[in-house]
Amino acid sequence: MSKFLSRIYKDLTPYTPGEQPQDKKYIKLNTNESPFPPAPGVIDAVNREEALNLRLYSDPELKPLKAALAEAYGVGPENVFVSNGSDEALNFAFMAFGQDGIIFPDITYGFYKVLVNANHIAYEEKPLRPDFTIDPSDYRNIDRAVCIPNPNAPTGLLLSLDTIRSLAESNPDHVVMIDEAYIDFGGQSAVPLTREYDNLLVIQTFSKSRSLAGARVGYAIGNKDLIQDLETLKYALNPYNVNRISMACAIAAVKDPAYYEANIQKIKDNRAYAEDALEKLGFTVIPSYSNFVFARHPDYEGGKLYQDLKANGILVRHFTDPKISSYNRITIGTREEMEALVETIEKLLQN
Ligand code: PMP
Repeated sequence: MSKFLSRIYKDLTPYTPGEQPQDKKYIKLNTNESPFPPAPGVIDAVNREEALNLRLYSDPELKPLKAALAEAYGVGPENVFVSNGSDEALNFAFMAFGQDGIIFPDITYGFYKVLVNANHIAYEEKPLRPDFTIDPSDYRNIDRAVCIPNPNAPTGLLLSLDTIRSLAESNPDHVVMIDEAYIDFGGQSAVPLTREYDNLLVIQTFSKSRSLAGARVGYAIGNKDLIQDLETLKYALNPYNVNRISMACAIAAVKDPAYYEANIQKIKDNRAYAEDALEKLGFTVIPSYSNFVFARHPDYEGGKLYQDLKANGILVRHFTDPKISSYNRITIGTREEMEALVETIEKLLQN
């Protein structure tokens, strides 16, 4: 730390992203990326013409992408905010709507805690139940904003739309943020409810089901006044937040739902295969509605399994929080990758 760092950031603990190692080729099951390439139209969108256009600023209004998303989700363009990854939408939403504090689960996406600390927002972490489910009553009739991922990460468990509705309904004076990064892998989106509840903000990403983690594009859908507030934050902090090539890629991705639906189906099939195979090897696997599984073995310490898999060329995600340190989060990859995972674990268990 330099002596110049502002006092307000001296105690800031930054987010630790999943490893992106460059040393050798791993079977990479640690950051919930898609194992499949982006849609063919996305590849074509990264072209010479777009490269030549890079001398020009990107469109701060992101109109064509908002229009494509609005059409895809049956909302108006004024209901759509576009961000540099959904992390940025979450940051702007926390800044915009967090003044009375934000409440989120204690086991969840680690970035929320970093964001509240970075922005000096009061927060409360609500413990999950022993079976890792969220107790919805913890989030009803409270005097703060709410942020919940649905499905939750790293557990993969899902809340019903009726529950989301009850959260929005019981907190009319605060914003309820639903982070749907993984919704396409097994849940029903709360986007239609944003027409009924002016305090419901749904945040999604192109990073998971649409195979565009490296493009960094996310979005939020909600009442037009909420979206306007997010725009105010964006124009205050990062007006050209999405670059030209990423916008072109995202538009092409939205326009090819059939390609992505087929990939999602493959991921669901591979998830069922992995859950079944891991259970046969003695693992407890939390039923997942996401593109990862969260699993522990009674005779294999979580941190050791992570290390041993890494030594065998397979990366998974291990968290050191004692509440979940016996588990590993394993991204669902191709069938070949899942078979390699299962074979490697089988071999490790025999040692
Ligand atoms: N929400 C959740 C629950 C996540 O797991 C992630 C990915 N790490 C994100 C949001 C952020 O994804 P991105 O910024 O790539 O859109």
